[in-house]
Amino acid sequence: MARTNTRKRLPAKSPVGEPHGDARKRALRVFRALTRAYPEAHVPLNYRNALELLIATILSAQCTDARVNEVTAPLFKKYRRASDWKKIPVPKLEEMVHPTGFFRNKARAIHEATEDIDERFGGSVPGTMEELLSLRGIGRKSASVLLATIYDTPAIVVDTHFSRISRRLGFTAEFDPTKIEFDLAEIVPRKHWSDFSLMLNWHGRVTCYARKPDCDVCAARKNCPAFESRGEITWKVKVPAAKRRPQKKTGAKRKAG
Ligand code: SF4
Repeated sequence: MARTNTRKRLPAKSPVGEPHGDARKRALRVFRALTRAYPEAHVPLNYRNALELLIATILSAQCTDARVNEVTAPLFKKYRRASDWKKIPVPKLEEMVHPTGFFRNKARAIHEATEDIDERFGGSVPGTMEELLSLRGIGRKSASVLLATIYDTPAIVVDTHFSRISRRLGFTAEFDPTKIEFDLAEIVPRKHWSDFSLMLNWHGRVTCYARKPDCDVCAARKNCPAFESRGEITWKVKVPAAKRRPQKKTGAKRKAG
């Protein structure tokens, strides 16, 4: 019986019309330039272990890192194990995480995830993508953060900065985080996935801002198709209409993490 090829079939060219081999070389040049530019880059959430990073990551959705760190500081002193967290009544947890926004979803996600960690994994945060995704309340982004930061496993972390900058750089034309992740996985060498994610995240915080990117001082400007247009994606004319940003649905349920 013929074997099915499950590998993703790549389009012949990247969204900016370059052969994929060239896109890979350009991604490496971007990576090296950003690594040189940001030796200080780090995960800006405060944590001491996998459980704290997981909780901070859940809280960081649509919230500043400074606010998350403010909220978690007293909580991490008081609640140390998954069994401590799971015992907190959800309404109390909602109150505790209220300042980070979307507090109902976040409280529920923390409650469910810590219950699973305590009851199914003996209190230890698991270390594979499959196990992390089996935790209730945990999405792909949180799982990738854990893998990349704690477990030294290559992972692409698609957050808002990564998503925006990888489009500006012409490495993807997608808006769906999973599709962006798969596009970039084809372009960035696996051993650099975690650091590449960290660099794009940091770059988005300090230079490639959403509104007015500071293109003139950007270390990646020589390799960015959006440099001339100051972050405007002019190459989008080459992208089929179906790949443009979908209209937001009103009343859609939001998943924390
Ligand atoms: S040149 Fe401008 S748009 Fe391109 S990566 Fe740099 S800051 Fe972002």
